[in-house]
Amino acid sequence: MNLRDTIRTIPDYPKPGIMFRDITTLLGDPRAFRRTVDELVQPYAGTKIEKVAGIEARGFILGGAVAHQLSAGFVPIRKKGKLPHTTVRIAYSLEYGVDEMEIHEDAILKGERVILVDDLIATGGTATAAAQLLRNLGAEVVAACFIVDLPELGGAAKLRDMGVPVRTLVEFE
Ligand code: IMP
Repeated sequence: MNLRDTIRTIPDYPKPGIMFRDITTLLGDPRAFRRTVDELVQPYAGTKIEKVAGIEARGFILGGAVAHQLSAGFVPIRKKGKLPHTTVRIAYSLEYGVDEMEIHEDAILKGERVILVDDLIATGGTATAAAQLLRNLGAEVVAACFIVDLPELGGAAKLRDMGVPVRTLVEFE
């Protein structure tokens, strides 16, 4: 089984000209989902990872499974206004304008080793902000893991420039 073949492409979603890579078909395939989680964690199995941080919303699905596999805790990074306790926030650029994401201020202890997880990295705007947010709490960001990389958009390179190792499983142009 080729993981890439289990990802569906929806042309012109959410707007004309965008090829949306839809991982719900991968998640719904029992063998593909297990293989994805196994391959994402493989370099970190047996190493000390205290927390896995998932980016809302598809990063929650994967991040929970990755955290379980590594016997780590799970921490949600959410769009602003969704977390109930005191948070720290970071602004990040979207294609049009800016948005903010946040994390509970006590979700990570200083020096904890954290893996960041999302489904896909494109320009890296979302993931670099999330990595910075984790560092602002004192985390050591051990790696950022994604199923899909769109390398032409340069996001993985931006994370590596920040000193965050990147693990991805499938590439689309
Ligand atoms: P970036 O900030 O440009 O790297 O965009 C990555 C974020 O947008 C991630 O949270 C992804 O879930 C989402 N995203 C962008 N393009 C796609 C896509 O084709 N499929 C699924 N998610 C996408």
